[in-house]
Amino acid sequence: MPAPPLDINLGDVVQMRKPHPCGGDTWRVVRLGAEIGIRCLTCDRKVLLPRSTFERRVKRFVEHGIGNETAENAKNEKRKT
Ligand SMILES: [Zn+2]
Repeated sequence: MPAPPLDINLGDVVQMRKPHPCGGDTWRVVRLGAEIGIRCLTCDRKVLLPRSTFERRVKRFVEHGIGNETAENAKNEKRKT
């Protein structure tokens, strides 16, 4: 059975199957569209992945965002610290 399509929201934190070269494996969703933008929570790098690739690489959702506002707040928090 194929997995149902993922419900992705801005601000979601996901764990990927393969760790980033920096050693981190958790990412925050920062952009939605044909390509999904995710930011590595460990090194703060941002990458764009086609949705299909993103869905294949996600291992699990660590935290569910609730949309735009959450992502913006998260970004602002990050700048302050
Ligand atoms: Zn990284």
